[in-house]
Amino acid sequence: MNYLIKNAQTIFQDSKLNSSTNANDIRISQGVITEIGTQLLPNTSQNERLINAKGCVVYPGFVNTHHHLAQSVLKGVPEGLNQDLGQWLAAVPYRFWPKIPPRLMYLSAKLGIYELIRSGATSCADHHYLYHANSSAEVEAALWQAASDMGIRFTLCRGGATQVGKHKGMSRLNLQPESIEQCLERMQDSLKHHDPSPLSMSRLCVAPTSLIHSASKHDLITLAQFARSNGLKLHSHLLEVEFDQQQALKNHQMSAIDYAHSCDWLGADVWFAHLVKADRQAIELLAQTNTGMSHCPTSNCRLGSGIAPAYAMDKAGINVSIGVDGSASSESGSMLQELNLAWLLQRAQHGAANVPLEQVVHWGTRNGAHSLGLKTGRLELGYAADLVIYDIEELRIASVHDQRLAPILCGEPTQVKYSFINGVPVIDKGLFTRFDPQELAAELKQEMRTFLATIE
Ligand SMILES: [Zn+2]
Repeated sequence: MNYLIKNAQTIFQDSKLNSSTNANDIRISQGVITEIGTQLLPNTSQNERLINAKGCVVYPGFVNTHHHLAQSVLKGVPEGLNQDLGQWLAAVPYRFWPKIPPRLMYLSAKLGIYELIRSGATSCADHHYLYHANSSAEVEAALWQAASDMGIRFTLCRGGATQVGKHKGMSRLNLQPESIEQCLERMQDSLKHHDPSPLSMSRLCVAPTSLIHSASKHDLITLAQFARSNGLKLHSHLLEVEFDQQQALKNHQMSAIDYAHSCDWLGADVWFAHLVKADRQAIELLAQTNTGMSHCPTSNCRLGSGIAPAYAMDKAGINVSIGVDGSASSESGSMLQELNLAWLLQRAQHGAANVPLEQVVHWGTRNGAHSLGLKTGRLELGYAADLVIYDIEELRIASVHDQRLAPILCGEPTQVKYSFINGVPVIDKGLFTRFDPQELAAELKQEMRTFLATIE
């Protein structure tokens, strides 16, 4: 079906930075934006449905560039509260993840995707690292299935560790990491999900869990070669805390960013999550090599890691995007919260004359799409019809003067009236079309009870 969105109060168009646009109608045909203007006439011959967007603002869907959907069932674990990254890793993800069964992975992914879509996201890059020597292929399969069932535009950033004997979480549970050969063989199989086209709904990306800790230099170079020979993007965690820098200096006698460079892990096809501790040298090298960053402020606050120099990176020419990170350290799972917090924190650091809100919207939309190599994140002709229609007449935000920015200014909660992904409504008149949230909640509770009984 095709759609004509009519009478929107306003439209957030990329090319109209710092100014309002008069257009209030958008036509969607075959999953793509085909017309933007005023007083567009319905096309009765095209099986076109009319969407009344009166009292609404239309945004490009947010592109989340860093998540761990497996963590949606690990929110608020008591032992992980008030802990820093290292303590939290041991108390929460390492303790639980090797035991997550495929069905729970499926439900966890659906929950995380639900939270993204209800907060204005239409694309998700999930950093999935639930692999060891004997892990089941069904866990990864559950993730692909959940993304497809929920209708989100999806990139699976294939994580994992090949550093035998050095992974504390796995050694505690007597598990062996994958060998590099095993990892490559399994990724080769996952390539069947990879569609390289710009409007792809399903992508694979090579993403060892931590660039500094998860793989040897030899394995990192091998993984980068595998990625580039198959046209895949590269992603990892880097410089979330100072420990990365210390370990790089100790083990490789160079800074973490120089180490990344020496392993062929910088470039326009690479983006890193966090970079909280990126110093001037790191920022310069990231900029020179067109390497991107995923800014995850909620998680960085929650774990006390600090505030990433996102605006300084943006100024240096680095492609800054936004990620919610996993819900074990970022319980809201909300892109809207992430954008709102990114804006506030960067202004607190850089002063009131800096960090315009429109720029932060770009981080959450077009920049995310740029990192993932997708033709989305903009309300422009020929771009994917990934767009979100917010109700700005609802009581909480009806009094905002700048209606174009109302959803981001006010933050959560907000009312998504319609969400289109690839030209298909996943939220229609405020209701999810692909699943029943109450049914998911009921099954999730039951599966979590069974799961928690397996954890010491
Ligand atoms: Zn992460």
